[in-house]
Amino acid sequence: MEELFAEVILPLPLQDRYTYLIPGHLTGRIKPGIRVLVPFGRRKIYSALVTEITPLSPGDFEIRQIETVLDEDPIIHPVNVELWKWMAEYYMSAQGEVMNTALPSALKPEGRDGSVEERFREKTRTIISLNPELDSPEKIPDILAALKRAPVQQTLFSHFLELTGGKDIRNRETIDRKSLIQETKNGANVLNELIRKGILFSRQETISRLYSETARQGDLNLLNRWQQEAIEEIRLKFMEKQTVLIHGVTASGKTEIYIHLMDEICREGKQVLYLVPEISLTPQIINRLRKAFSNRVGIYHSKMSDSERVEVWNRVLHFTRGEEDGYQIILGARSSVFLPFADLGLIIVDEEHENSYKQHDPAPRYHARDMAVVMGQQHNARVLLGSATPSFETYLNAMSGKYGLVKLLHRHGSANPPEIIIADLQQAYKRRKMISILTPELHSEIGRTLEKGQQVILFQNRRGYSPFLECMNCGWIPACQNCDVSLTIHKKAGRLSCHYCGHHIKLPQLCPRCNSDTIKMRGTGTEKIEDEISRIFPEAKVARMDLDSTRSKTAFEKIIHQLETKKTDILAGTQMVTKGLDIEHVGLAGVINADNLLNYPDFRAHERAFQLMMQVSGRSGRKENQGKVVIQTSQPEHPVIRYLVNNDYEGFFNEHVAERKAFFYPPWFKMIRIALKHKQQATVDSAADFMARMLRELRQAKILGPEYPLIGRVQQLYTKEIWIKFPRQAASVEIRQAVAGAVRETRELPGNSGLIIQIDADPV
Ligand code: ADP
Ligand code: ZN
Ligand code: ZN
Repeated sequence: MEELFAEVILPLPLQDRYTYLIPGHLTGRIKPGIRVLVPFGRRKIYSALVTEITPLSPGDFEIRQIETVLDEDPIIHPVNVELWKWMAEYYMSAQGEVMNTALPSALKPEGRDGSVEERFREKTRTIISLNPELDSPEKIPDILAALKRAPVQQTLFSHFLELTGGKDIRNRETIDRKSLIQETKNGANVLNELIRKGILFSRQETISRLYSETARQGDLNLLNRWQQEAIEEIRLKFMEKQTVLIHGVTASGKTEIYIHLMDEICREGKQVLYLVPEISLTPQIINRLRKAFSNRVGIYHSKMSDSERVEVWNRVLHFTRGEEDGYQIILGARSSVFLPFADLGLIIVDEEHENSYKQHDPAPRYHARDMAVVMGQQHNARVLLGSATPSFETYLNAMSGKYGLVKLLHRHGSANPPEIIIADLQQAYKRRKMISILTPELHSEIGRTLEKGQQVILFQNRRGYSPFLECMNCGWIPACQNCDVSLTIHKKAGRLSCHYCGHHIKLPQLCPRCNSDTIKMRGTGTEKIEDEISRIFPEAKVARMDLDSTRSKTAFEKIIHQLETKKTDILAGTQMVTKGLDIEHVGLAGVINADNLLNYPDFRAHERAFQLMMQVSGRSGRKENQGKVVIQTSQPEHPVIRYLVNNDYEGFFNEHVAERKAFFYPPWFKMIRIALKHKQQATVDSAADFMARMLRELRQAKILGPEYPLIGRVQQLYTKEIWIKFPRQAASVEIRQAVAGAVRETRELPGNSGLIIQIDADPV
């Protein structure tokens, strides 16, 4: 018989594909998309994914055999593996690394010596029913009589009859085993006797671990006039372009438009992927989708348990197989791009400018928005990107005609965008008009808003009480022992903490260097805002939303719920308060200090600052009320502030994108960042110099660095970075090959053991 071979992907950061022999007895069962167990190395067994079957032997070296098959049916489709391949090439990682990120860990068991076990178990319950042959009112008395000598069994059987419809019926119901035996002493044994005698039957039934509700599909909201115009324009643009950007102000009702389009695509029988930033995956949006699509919607994100993720995975497969519990629509965070879709009709990327679409660690460092565009091509699906403040990358693509562009400039229900008031911090300090952390403007607007019975959201991009402690006598500032940063004060916890490695120490009362008690907390974090605002407005109920106050998923939901039910008057927080909150009675949004945002040393700082502040202002004045926004800054004339006040995204884009062009930055140029890390500074220095020298031979690219990043040491590792910039049209395959070569040679250099090299294509 002819021999067959299988190409597989192993979950390792090595080469892309490996070949194994298919033993005769497994021939029919091995297909692309199923998992198999294969030996690798000396004693290891891995689960691997089959990508191809071929009669061609890979060469005349010894070839090992597949040991077992883990799946009956494929867990993934060829088009999904195509995406892995694309990602591995573009983001310069191995396909095994992509697979590791893609599959929920319960789908990739690994181990030694064949001790591999499937980690995912379906959750089941046991159902008890009457033997169908005995299921008639005439036979029941006979059974009861026969059980006379076993009174406990007789009692349990009578109990069963009562619970399943009484003595005198046919086709009685079944009952859950637990509820049957819970009141009977020794019930399990008694029941087993009845089963052994063939009176009762028992079987397993799978139950869902996920939210199982029977919400009926509701009618969709009618679109308002502008939404109607926009959706028609979107349909038109889709006739020419695969990808369309909807540039719609916050609260214009983009989500309503998405829901209508999703409904259309579902009717065609195709699948829909709706991506949102993880932080925007709130009960609000989930409920809106459930209301429209009921249990055809699955939710997928990283905070779910592994078993839940496997269940969503399977139910996406089930849809393609036409099974009843299949999910046609997935609402999810960035990792949802990996779900086993077979035939997508529409991919929506809401808040497409959000950074959280980018995976930072581990490799592949992919961008889910960009992957959505690639998937659009692979599935021939439409891709709709939505934002009130599009990323420069996307807006340039729209301007150049690569993407279609549709605008939606009217808020739903209220005619006017919020009024933006700029409060000059420097003036207020000089004239001694500050009320603690508040300018007179923000102070009086908060008062007025509370009087009207409305709510306030305050934004500051620093968590903790104060960013650092300083001794006024000797200048001592406590810093992290593992990282090049100062320690942040967390007053409630009585700690100084490092936000990069988690290291913390007790908050000192005296300066450990000079013993002086003149140590001062400098700067303002969210915890301090919460304290100060409670002091200034003692009647108001103040809450805080940041990483520290939302460590558990329920805490996050609780804070939102209290805001919705008006149990909170003022919410202070980090970026979290700027995203996706859609609260009806918020009348005022405040930015405590815009200077931090404006002065951040990064070429994207102004783009970010504009997006963030625009987003903050989007939180105020929904429905009928016109909202207000107060921005505190010592640079009231800053161009970012000027464009913001004029609500002029386009002007802002035009000015800044020209600057980017002049300095060879994205979106005009592409970038690859290489980070080298090691415990020894000298090792990092010499390795980085060596690599940069090799890369400088590239003709089409500019090489920047090696340089220390903003924080040169994190978790005891020194870091140096090299940046490669090249025109968008450059032959990126060549550049990637050169980078791969340089990385390999640098790694192999003697003395470089323990060196970590991370590659990030299109870093954000
Ligand atoms: P966006 O996604 O653009 O920020 P949303 O879709 O969240 O806007 O809409 C903002 C608010 O207005 C939501 O509470 C939404 O329910 C409501 N809304 C928007 N459009 C409609 C509509 N056509 N009918 C009813 N309510 C709408
Ligand atoms: Zn001191
Ligand atoms: Zn640290």
